Amino acid sequence: MTITENLNQQQLMAVSYQPANLLVLAGAGSGKTKVLVSRIAYLIQNHRIGPANIMAVTFTNKAAREMRERLEKMLQFPVTSMWVGTFHGLAHRFLRAHWQEAGLSQHFQIIDSEDQFRIIKRLQKDLDLAEERWPIKQTQWFINNKKDQGIRPQHIQYGAHDIFDKTLTKVYELYTEYCKRNNVVDFAELLLRTHEVLRDNLSLLEHYQDRFKHILVDEFQDTNDIQYAFVKLICGRDNFLTAVGDDDQSIYGWRGAKIENIQKLTKDFKDTITIRLEQNYRSTKNILAASNAVIEKNSNRLGKKLWTDGETGGLITLYSAMNDIDEASFIVKSILHEIHDGASRNDIAILYRSNAQSRVLEEQLIQAGLPYRIYGGMRFFDRAEIKDALAYLRLLNNENDDAALERIINVPTRGVGNVTLNKIRDLAKANNLSLWQSAKQHISGNLLAARAHNSLQNFIELIENIKTETENLAIAEQIEHVLFRASLKEFYSKDKSDRGRMRLDNLNELVSAAREFDDNNDEASMSLFLAHAALESGDDGNSGDTECVQLMTLHSAKGLEFPIVFISGLEQGLFPHQLSMSEPDKLEEERRLCYVGMTRAMQKLYLTHAQLRRLHGNEQYRRPSCFLYDLPEELLDKRSGMSLFTTSTTYSQKQPESKATIPQNTSFENNKYSIGQLVEHATFGVGTILNFEGAGDNLRIQVNFKSCGTKLLAAAYAKLNPL
Ligand code: ATP
Ligand code: MG
Repeated sequence: MTITENLNQQQLMAVSYQPANLLVLAGAGSGKTKVLVSRIAYLIQNHRIGPANIMAVTFTNKAAREMRERLEKMLQFPVTSMWVGTFHGLAHRFLRAHWQEAGLSQHFQIIDSEDQFRIIKRLQKDLDLAEERWPIKQTQWFINNKKDQGIRPQHIQYGAHDIFDKTLTKVYELYTEYCKRNNVVDFAELLLRTHEVLRDNLSLLEHYQDRFKHILVDEFQDTNDIQYAFVKLICGRDNFLTAVGDDDQSIYGWRGAKIENIQKLTKDFKDTITIRLEQNYRSTKNILAASNAVIEKNSNRLGKKLWTDGETGGLITLYSAMNDIDEASFIVKSILHEIHDGASRNDIAILYRSNAQSRVLEEQLIQAGLPYRIYGGMRFFDRAEIKDALAYLRLLNNENDDAALERIINVPTRGVGNVTLNKIRDLAKANNLSLWQSAKQHISGNLLAARAHNSLQNFIELIENIKTETENLAIAEQIEHVLFRASLKEFYSKDKSDRGRMRLDNLNELVSAAREFDDNNDEASMSLFLAHAALESGDDGNSGDTECVQLMTLHSAKGLEFPIVFISGLEQGLFPHQLSMSEPDKLEEERRLCYVGMTRAMQKLYLTHAQLRRLHGNEQYRRPSCFLYDLPEELLDKRSGMSLFTTSTTYSQKQPESKATIPQNTSFENNKYSIGQLVEHATFGVGTILNFEGAGDNLRIQVNFKSCGTKLLAAAYAKLNPL
């Protein structure tokens, strides 16, 4: 296969364009990622650029691995010296090499957002800030948002009466000191620190500018301020940037991404050539037309035409479910149909707006015996037992890692209770010590009662002994030894349930993961393995050899494609999300997310919504998503479960605001019953009417009984008494 084979004219131009600043601005499925990879291969092969002179930025670790593999296949030689990764991964690599310049210690560690949350919580407690008034998540967001904009605490200006900024800036300041003292770095810090080091260290900057002649960035529309500034810094005078992106797919504004960076680029980077790709190779004509109809409603678009030579394809199935269970059951039945018609489970993805939606889907998939996998969901490295094991390793690696120490000082239970821990914290705070140092002072100074003293001493000795015992072991062996010495396996094996067994399996899997890491990395060390655990986003896409249906949020589906796609929960308040509905900018971002979701589909697209949904414990009637009203009628194959509608619904050409999904008059049988009404049944007791179908003698009523769940009853016989 040659590099330029199978490229259309515009793609070929983008791939083979002489070294220059290049912006490839194009819609979904037009081959942007393909162009990016091919351009790297072309630069290496035709312009004789060394792989070491190239840096490529991808959106996930998985995409980075795939990119390297595809390049090696195209070029037939290894490209190990090329830097490929996510912004975070690359920044970590940089800081590892330049920890001194960055003012870090050699073994600095990455903390994830859960650790960050814990730390902020503690700091706020020290400051006596009540959580109700100062929610931790809000502070966390404040800090990360400032970092994403390159702002340190000392740069924040606030008025004398601005209590909000003043207070949060104080926490930010203390948090910064804490991280420095404990030698830990959060995700946003990786980027900010890298940027600062390069900005303030001219010789280092020149070194990297000399080295990375070509920088290529995928999904450019989702870069934030600090990432943009980083790219700009490295691209000095004679470096070249290739950025590919789609303004219609910018979906991380809520996390600080700036869609405007695409336009800024053409001004900030000298003589930028813009190339547009217009042919879509991914989806059928119908899927593309429906997706275009949705995104067209947004304002302020850079404007792109997208067409396809592909087949017309089937209609888009729009299923109006009675409730979330009916929705999940429809999805699973349709999947079984598709598989019966020859699809493989791997070809199928179910997308949703909120993680909480997956539970009902999972239950139905399990019932149907369909293996599935949650992509980018709960990461392996985020499971409680794995985090416990990792906390031991972190503490062994860096005794001053307070978050790690807090996590495991009493796991497994060893008699170091909260009272002792509070004493340790207080002394640490008073004397500016790490928890470990404070714990040791408690022992040497005999500051605790006998029992607590002994328990704490045992803990300290345990850590110190393990440290000596594992000194020269490979990482997998180190982990195995820790699991044994810290009695973690023993602790979890006491739980004889499935969950306990799963946890033991996971701990064993951790050893395998370390072994694999060791095999794949020339300079594997414990601290690199821990960084890997923190940065790996859980998107590796394989789960043994079993073919699986893929479940994921719409956000994690970015850049991917599947022959068959289901988008579930298209309801007002869920998608578009409740918090985004009232602000036009946010609603536009939700609409882009819908466009991203729809354009993942190659051959078949199913859209579903439920009229009643239980989410976070509440059952609510829901209106169809406003996005559904943008779909042209002629593209839709509309189906419904037991419908709440008396007449068939028309989605198109009607504003959702003017038309409630739930008919205004939901009563039936001469107003004897109505949906939502409480009724009593002689055997089943009290329940709520969910739905009805048929009429007269054939009237059947669906009731959700408190005692036994949902039943469908013939009204003529059920003798329901309205309450
Ligand atoms: P997204 O915006 O979703 O990230 P993209 O623009 O990056 O999409 P790719 O993922 O690169 O698009 O390509 C979409 C699909 O089209 C892929 O399966 C790719 O292999 C295929 N494709 C791209 N260009 C061509 C071409 N010239 N001929 C045949 N197939 C192509
Ligand atoms: Mg892409």
